[in-house]
Amino acid sequence: MIRYSLACVGEHEFEAWFSDSAAYDAQRKRRLVECPTCGSTKVHKQIMAPSIRSSEKAVPPEVVAAKVAGEIRQHIATTHDYVGDKFADEARAMYYGETEHRPVWGEVTPDVARELVDEGVPAMPLPKPFAPEPPRRKGRAN
Ligand SMILES: [Zn+2]
Repeated sequence: MIRYSLACVGEHEFEAWFSDSAAYDAQRKRRLVECPTCGSTKVHKQIMAPSIRSSEKAVPPEVVAAKVAGEIRQHIATTHDYVGDKFADEARAMYYGETEHRPVWGEVTPDVARELVDEGVPAMPLPKPFAPEPPRRKGRAN
């Protein structure tokens, strides 16, 4: 079955069901399709505006990735304390039970990162797009 939006010569709009488009053409030629308002059999299909659903628009993967990265950055920035270059000290102090556990983030050199991993200190490297901007830069070049 197919539903057509139709209009008569008097621009009365109505809808009708047909088994297929050929059935519509045949019934229309035989004047069997009648306007329910004025009874006219001079009817035509209404021109339909194509409906574009925004949810069907493809979002480029890099846009999705950037959005996710932004959410992760925001999450870390708002729930983790920034400890800067004291990260290794802080992480070790927590790991060895010297201070309370709390979520922190900061910066270490790759060598120190390896040391932490070797010691079994739970720390995770943040790929560049996921790392928030440090709240205060101490003028150290990258
Ligand atoms: Zn009509």
